[in-house]
This record gives sequence, C-alpha cells and structure tokens, in this order.
Amino acid sequence: MRTIIEPFRIKTVEPIRMTTRDERQRLLAAAAYNLFAVRADDVLIDLLTDSGTSAMSAAQQAALIGGDESYAGSASFFRFEAAVKNLFPFKHVLPTHQGRAAEAILFSVIGGKGVKVPSNTHFDTTRANIEATGAEAFDLVIAEGLDPNNEHPFKGNMDLARLEAFLAEHGAGVPCVMLTVTNNAGGGQPVSLENIRATAAVAHKYGKRFLIDGCRFAENAFFIKLREKSQANRRVEDIVRDMFADADGMTMSAKKDAFANIGGWLALNDDTLAQSARERLILTEGFPTYGGLAGRDLDAIAQGLKEIVDEDYLAYRLRTSAYVAERLEALGVPTVKPSGGHAIFVDARTFLPHIPPLNYPGQSLAVALYLEGGIRSCEIGTVMFGLQSDGREVPAAMDLVRLAMPRRVYTQSHADYVVEVFENIAKNKERLRGLKIVWQPRRMRHFSAKFMPL
Ligand SMILES: *Cc1c(COP(=O)(O)O)cnc(C)c1O
Repeated sequence: MRTIIEPFRIKTVEPIRMTTRDERQRLLAAAAYNLFAVRADDVLIDLLTDSGTSAMSAAQQAALIGGDESYAGSASFFRFEAAVKNLFPFKHVLPTHQGRAAEAILFSVIGGKGVKVPSNTHFDTTRANIEATGAEAFDLVIAEGLDPNNEHPFKGNMDLARLEAFLAEHGAGVPCVMLTVTNNAGGGQPVSLENIRATAAVAHKYGKRFLIDGCRFAENAFFIKLREKSQANRRVEDIVRDMFADADGMTMSAKKDAFANIGGWLALNDDTLAQSARERLILTEGFPTYGGLAGRDLDAIAQGLKEIVDEDYLAYRLRTSAYVAERLEALGVPTVKPSGGHAIFVDARTFLPHIPPLNYPGQSLAVALYLEGGIRSCEIGTVMFGLQSDGREVPAAMDLVRLAMPRRVYTQSHADYVVEVFENIAKNKERLRGLKIVWQPRRMRHFSAKFMPL
C-alpha cells in the first residue's frame, strides 16, 4: 500500500484547546513573542521538542502499575536492565534521571582540564557537561553534514580522516571518541553502520574508548536498513545490536527512543570506570538500582524499548518527517535535506530573504506559525547562537526553525494542518517583519529573551 498508516489505535485522548487568531495575538504579546513563555494549554500543535513528549502505550501504562518502588534491588530495575542489555550488551547499566545526568557522571570521571573529546557533533548538553569539567569538545562530522542542500544518505557520519589526524595530534589528552546517533544537533541525520564500525576501529587503533550517544538509536537503525544496501534485509533489532557491538559504552536519554517521559542511562563495559561512575551516581542521582527514577519509570522504559524497534512504527515515524518536508518543499518552503528522523528543519533565512539575520528570520517565522495556526516550533539560529560571550551579536551559520515531532502523538491530519498554515504564511511572506530583542539574559537567551516586532 502507498499509504503508511499510524500503526496504532487511540484509546486515551487529550483534548486540544482551540484558540482564535485574536486570542493568539494577545497571548504572543503577553509572552513578549517568545514561545517558551507561552503556556502549553494555549498551543494547538506543539512541535517544540520530541523529548519526553511521546505518547505511552497501553502496555507502558500497565507497566507503571507494576512498578516496584523498593529502594534497593527492585524488580523494576532488573526488568529495565534486561531490556537495555537485550539491545545493548554492556556489562554495567546505570539508570539516570535524564541523558544529561549520564553525561555529567561520565565526564566527572573522564573529563577535566587538558582533556579533549571528539564526536561527529556533540549535543548541546554533552558539550556543556564536557566543558563544565574544563575539558574541550570537538565536532568532526563529514563536510556534507554541514551543507543543508546536500542529499548524502548519512550526513551524521564521522569524518574518519579528520578523526585520525585529531587522535594522532591530541591522542594523549583524549579519554574517548563519541558518536551521536542520530546526529541531533546536525539535523537528526543518521550515521551508517559502516561508519560506526570504522569510527570504533580508529578509536581502538589509538587505544581510546568508543562511546555512543544513543538517544535516537532506533531511528538511526531504520535509516541504515533503508539506505545501506547490505542491511536492507536485516531486522532492526539486529542492526541495533551491531551498531553497539564495537562500543565500550553509551549515554542515553530515554525521553527519545524509549518512549518514556523521563529517564536515561549510562552503560559501560570497563569495571573500574563503572565503579567510579556508580560512586558519583550515588552522590547525585541515587542508589544504583534506581538512579534518579521511580521504579515505575524504569518499567515504562523497559516496555518502551520493546516497542521502539517495531518496524511498522519506524516506517511510520520516518515517513512522517519526510511527508511534511516534501509538502513544504512543494510549497516553495526550503527545508534541510534530506529530512531527518525526529524533525523537519525549515531554512527561514532563505524563505524570508528580506529579514536580515540580526532581525531573526527564524523567530519571525516561529511567531507567524503560532499566530496563524497555534503551532509551537523552535528557532535554531541567531537567537539561539548569535550572542557571544563578550556580548557581541553575530549571525548564526543558519537561521532554522525546527518542527520536532513527538512520537505517536499527532496524526496525518495534524501534519496536513501544519502544511496548510505554512501555505497561508507563504502567500504573504513578504509582509512578515523581523523582531528586536528588548531584554535578554547573559546566556542561553532563547529561553527567556523578550522581543518586540519591528
Ligand atoms: C536529548 C539529548 C541529550 C540529553 O538528554 P536529556 O534527557 O534531555 O538530558 C543528549 N544527546 C542527544 C543527542 C539528545 O538528543
């Protein structure tokens, strides 16, 4: 069949509160044109993030009731551990309350002054946790990964030649090589199995640990099945196992590809490293069999991991982003190509050439999406990256608007509605104006800056 259906029925629903354009005009002004300041109740379609926003299944809801809240050695932990090890055969699994907690623990042990950590692209919390220890983070993604119009099938790949040169030069200060799958900060682009294996081989050749940030491992595995010829006839579960077979550990946010609303873990093979991490875990998260989570959360993750590798789900998941991207392109709305796993990235700078980067074309489009259709998206451009530590302002490399897709939450008619809102905006796009910032904090300004339309 040509139509890829949502492979689920809906048993519990959450009503969307409808708003009018006039109402949204007032709400926007009250929020100083910053969508982070808009209440979720006032949003029709919330595409701010795919993190922690997944719909849980009936089986996950049932698993919550079965959660064992014992302080030590709870049955929930052992179900969680077994589900993790079923896909990722690491010796030690430490639950954490989110992915960033796993990163903080890892780098408190292997980070520090003089340390250098290469990756394809570090996610912002990973980079921040590395830098917080005095260490440095380096992004070595292939050149194609930085070109929004390049259709390379694996734009998240590590540049192996640059990695070799990096390790040859800085080897002594490098505790591990990391790889993010899919490459979130690089547009949700996948890494090929061949590149994962080659990255592991280069790391091991230099005697370095190879660690994977596995947040969207299942989406990455399905991209491998679709795009890597030798993998076309393999089961996603087996591809996942192969992706992690040469790794020495992983960090994970269960808020992504585990269908959970909270949670994460750090997994390691090295006994000594795991012991140090566990000591740190007790200090910051909790006892090693719950690590910052309730027993019920561990059970939701355990069940989520069984569901996320379902190939009907993954086909629907990747098709959702591709469908919206194709329809936007047909309207003349430029997007980053090819569409990634969890989000569509609209190139607002190209779409709104009359708005200079320092008047924030991405923010202008994000505000228009809310005003015209109650859609909440996220500017990833000059608002987010333009403020330098010395207070100067410079245009970011690109001005993008990210439409992140929560898992199993919206249907095709929601997607069609999003496209229709874009259609209305595109008709009068030269009327859109930029904005100026009237107040901002010193860092991470996108969360709380106040804007005024020009
Ligand atoms: C979300 C994310 C993280 C951090 O996880 P949290 O659960 O939000 O702390 C780390 N890496 C990647 C690639 C992510 O997408």
